[in-house]
Amino acid sequence: MDFLPIFMNVKGRLCLVVGGGEVAKRKAGVLLEAGAKVRVVAPEIDSSLSEQAGVMSIVACFDVQHLEGVMLVIAATNDRSVNEQVSRLAHECNIPVNVVDDPELCSFIMPAIMDRSPLMVAFSSGGASPVLTRMMRGKLESLIPQNFSRLAAFAERFREQVKQRVTNPAKRRIFWENALDGVVAEKVLTGDETSAESMLQQMLADEDNIVRGEVYLVGAGPGDPDLLTFRALRLMQKADVVVYDNLVSKPIVDMTRRDAERIYVGKKRADHTLRQEEINALLVRLAHEGKRVLRLKGGDPFIFGRGGEEIETLAAENIPFQVVPGITAASGVASYAGIPLTHRDYAQSCMFVTGHLKDGTMNLDWDALARPRQTVVVYMGLQGLDTLCAKLIEHGMLDATPIAIVQQGTTQNQRVVTGTLSTLPGIAALEKLHAPTLIIIGGVVTLREKLQWFHPHHD
Ligand code: SAH
Repeated sequence: MDFLPIFMNVKGRLCLVVGGGEVAKRKAGVLLEAGAKVRVVAPEIDSSLSEQAGVMSIVACFDVQHLEGVMLVIAATNDRSVNEQVSRLAHECNIPVNVVDDPELCSFIMPAIMDRSPLMVAFSSGGASPVLTRMMRGKLESLIPQNFSRLAAFAERFREQVKQRVTNPAKRRIFWENALDGVVAEKVLTGDETSAESMLQQMLADEDNIVRGEVYLVGAGPGDPDLLTFRALRLMQKADVVVYDNLVSKPIVDMTRRDAERIYVGKKRADHTLRQEEINALLVRLAHEGKRVLRLKGGDPFIFGRGGEEIETLAAENIPFQVVPGITAASGVASYAGIPLTHRDYAQSCMFVTGHLKDGTMNLDWDALARPRQTVVVYMGLQGLDTLCAKLIEHGMLDATPIAIVQQGTTQNQRVVTGTLSTLPGIAALEKLHAPTLIIIGGVVTLREKLQWFHPHHD
């Protein structure tokens, strides 16, 4: 360790900044934020700095007398000899000194910070590589939600109460771990402190009972792991058990917590591995065992995902759950295939329908689908493609209407096949497409010619 990391209390204390320009202003800003009184000394001081509340400026060249009564010093001038003088005198007086961008002259360095006050993370490479330090901060910034501050404030609010109720320190630590890493935390992070508080009170009341499980119903997007949300990723790394089906791509399943149990409940059109009722029952059973259950679904759980049915059962059983939206196939696939779903010249609206055949027929509102100037996206439509095209033509759609089928969209294996309502069924048969495929119908499909090259997986 090259430096001792400490957080210093400067509230109401006098700190000195030598320099009157941009850099000095930035440093003074940090000191002010930490509650310090700031003396600024320089022959010329920018008015935006001198006029700040809490700043006392002295227009003069730096002199040893300016160190009087000061608890720490930052030298931020562009004159090395002045910086050296500040450093030397401060060292002589035993006042901690930082010289901006000059580690040799410093007795302390200022870290990069991630501020989730009262939670604060400081980063330093000891001057070895500021860029690396900033990269590290960037990584953590994306991992730790912005409103983590709220969580810390929330914990502080109940600290005393919990301390009195849960007197055993080891138990108290576990209590807080469960609260701050579970459904209470999620509620706080999404801004619903009222529910969070009642859950916390419930946990306190139940303290002597067993831990309660919970379920995260998470949309994993259409395939490319880059399309996961931060929240999905966070919950994926927290779950004790993962229940997923075949729409969730392997790279995504691999991103769930390493030691989590994984249960495949693949659903293919005909050979349902587990029936929906069995999946519902499985989720309930696992949650009752006290586990954090991740129900990972392709796309968005509330779009042709039967997510509604799964949470109905959970609600009926009083199991806490949350739903995390995902990028639905229509949105992800269209974008990676270079097909905007709406466009002022082609389509003012967009419909998502399922082409899933029931008893060999497709029960859709054909007149509504055949209307001009709209895009129709068909999920689960490959089996019924012939019927789909024939019906649309029968209900007045032009047989030259462009149509695209995208197989395994957004993944490395994405394939796009295009044609018209009259030609596509034949083309699709020749191409031997297989699920999952998404069908997009409408004038917007022609835009693909122009736009596909800008997308990562063009083919
Ligand atoms: N909840 C999911 C849809 C589930 S229904 C969502 O919001 O996306 C399953 C259908 O979604 C598939 O039959 C297919 O039509 C479509 N689908 C899902 N992922 C896809 C992908 N990567 N490429 C093409 N179609 C996809």
